[in-house]
Amino acid sequence: MMISTLLTAAAVLWFAAAPAVAQIDLGRAIGAAADLGKAATVSDDDVKNYARQMRAYEERVREQVEPPGSKYSQRLASLTDRHRNFDGLTLNFKVYSAKTVNANASADGSIRLYTGLMDLMTDHELLFVIGHEIGHVRGGHSAKAMRTALATSGMRKALTATTNSSAVILADSQLGGLVEGVVNAQHSQAQETESDDYGMQFLKRNKLPTDAAASALRKLAGLSKGGASILSSHPDPGKRADRMAAAR
Ligand SMILES: [Zn+2]
Repeated sequence: MMISTLLTAAAVLWFAAAPAVAQIDLGRAIGAAADLGKAATVSDDDVKNYARQMRAYEERVREQVEPPGSKYSQRLASLTDRHRNFDGLTLNFKVYSAKTVNANASADGSIRLYTGLMDLMTDHELLFVIGHEIGHVRGGHSAKAMRTALATSGMRKALTATTNSSAVILADSQLGGLVEGVVNAQHSQAQETESDDYGMQFLKRNKLPTDAAASALRKLAGLSKGGASILSSHPDPGKRADRMAAAR
């Protein structure tokens, strides 16, 4: 009740003909707090809806998706077709055309691998990475990153304009802000550890060779020695490889 009163007051100040500077700043501060509070209450379905739109934007504007017939797409399909429904999740997989050695997952269950990663790794190593990314979805890390991005990318209007957010269609400018927010949101060390463990369990549950976990991470460690900053979202691959070798 108190918050809505403050918001109303701020809105009045915002639209006043010549508000004092201090009043504008107050309005912004309240708006930012409202963003954070509102984003924390966005439902899981809303987060998935926004994540789906963010992916569609990313693939229309920012990334080149390998066509379904390409050797990369066919290889990924052969690795993942049986995992489209895994551990209660509905997943989809695509390849982005770039030399980047990376992969990512978003809250809608979309998992993306770059051609650079696929060139570097064996099928079993890729399946560990895929299991790791599924772990980010299953563990709620991707949804948490999405909520943070929603709170920090000026999405207040989209979140508060309607009670039926499943009908909200975000503008490109909003989606661009979301992509930046999610790209810049690094998973914590604890989340990476949890996802490594999930990747190992993924290998075991699918009766795949478990040494693929450590060997995948050792390849990343070799790259990071060369200063590949792209791996900053996955810190200390050498230590992570040692953990995975011990967990086999
Ligand atoms: Zn990760």
